[in-house]
Amino acid sequence: MKDGGIKDGEWRRVRRLTVNEQRLLRRHGRALVSVSGLHALLTMLLWWMGALHLPAPVLWGLLAVLAGSAMLYLLFLESGVTAEWREPSLSFPMATLLLCTFLVTAYGLDEARISALMLFFPLLLLVSFRLGAGALLVLALLASLGYAAMLTLAWSLHGVRVSPVLEALMWLVFSLVSLSFAVTGSGVNGLRRRLAVKNLALADALEQVRDLAIRDDLTGLFNRRHIMEVLERQKGLADSGIYPFSVCYVDLDYFKAINDAFGHGWGDRVLRDFAEHALADLREGDYLARLGGEEFILVLPQSDLDGAELVAERLRRRWGERSFRALNGPPKVSLSAGVASYRVGETIDQLLARADHALYLAKSGGRDRVRREVQP
Ligand code: GH3
Ligand code: MG
Ligand code: MG
Repeated sequence: MKDGGIKDGEWRRVRRLTVNEQRLLRRHGRALVSVSGLHALLTMLLWWMGALHLPAPVLWGLLAVLAGSAMLYLLFLESGVTAEWREPSLSFPMATLLLCTFLVTAYGLDEARISALMLFFPLLLLVSFRLGAGALLVLALLASLGYAAMLTLAWSLHGVRVSPVLEALMWLVFSLVSLSFAVTGSGVNGLRRRLAVKNLALADALEQVRDLAIRDDLTGLFNRRHIMEVLERQKGLADSGIYPFSVCYVDLDYFKAINDAFGHGWGDRVLRDFAEHALADLREGDYLARLGGEEFILVLPQSDLDGAELVAERLRRRWGERSFRALNGPPKVSLSAGVASYRVGETIDQLLARADHALYLAKSGGRDRVRREVQP
């Protein structure tokens, strides 16, 4: 179901974004239960005053329904099972149930019939914080029809005791006031919707800012700053003996020549293509970042040196098969890579220096190859 342009999934997101949503939900629950309690009190008062003509079992049944539903309702909200539901406050079923109990009490009254229905107005206003315009109008309509049905039943079972014109007039006033409460409530709901739209836009903007801070503009890969944080985290895990990790420095070969021969635009395109290609080649949980220019780094959690070398070699081979010739671009762009494995207790700089040295060996060894760190 859509609610004024905000889809179900988005409402769930809005609710997750709302600070203390669970607390708001509980407060709403308590407010509805208060209405239920007030109605129980009013019913007992009317009965005590002798104004309520209901058989005792019906009266006790009514009070039991009010108490039981209130307890169940609070239990449901407290348990949090409804948190992911489309309408976690269960306002519609609860309001419908309360409306039915109002109508039962009103049935047992004659002159004061309308007094049992007054609580329906604050109830409508309360649920307007949770329900859309459609649901509010349906509730108002249900109340009006329910009232009419209850009148018909009362008249047919124990005759007309009060002036039918007066009763019809009260029904009409009740229906019109219900309708106007539903319309006012829709306005409240509209405000809530606009606020939700703004919250979503704000969350999107925050996500973008966060992305900008950790990603490289050209390729969308992680940037140097973020991968350094990743490396420190991995170091923490490895130092605690949780699992080892390795890194792989990658540098595209003769990249300057690509720029010179095909233009900077093609250079950028190759960089983006490499990022896409390398990402597709990686396991979930591996990290890839652009350090700058045509230099990249792979962080491979749970990989030892042999594992990292295999990953680098596979990337080199598959990337080496890529050609842009069909698009009038460079035929092939090879890469050189240097792998190193983290040694417990060392600094990230020490690890990166070994990977850098291995890359240097790959370059000086003729490029288009993978080299591993040399011992100490
Ligand atoms: P080697 O095989 O020794 O790595 O040679 P190389 O030409 O790849 O390395 P070098 O460091 O001499 O040149 C790197 C080039 O990368 C120089 C620079 O113009 C280019 N470059 C750096 N950043 C970008 C970028 O964002 N876009 C493009 N198109 N080119 C870039
Ligand atoms: Mg290079
Ligand atoms: Mg370079």
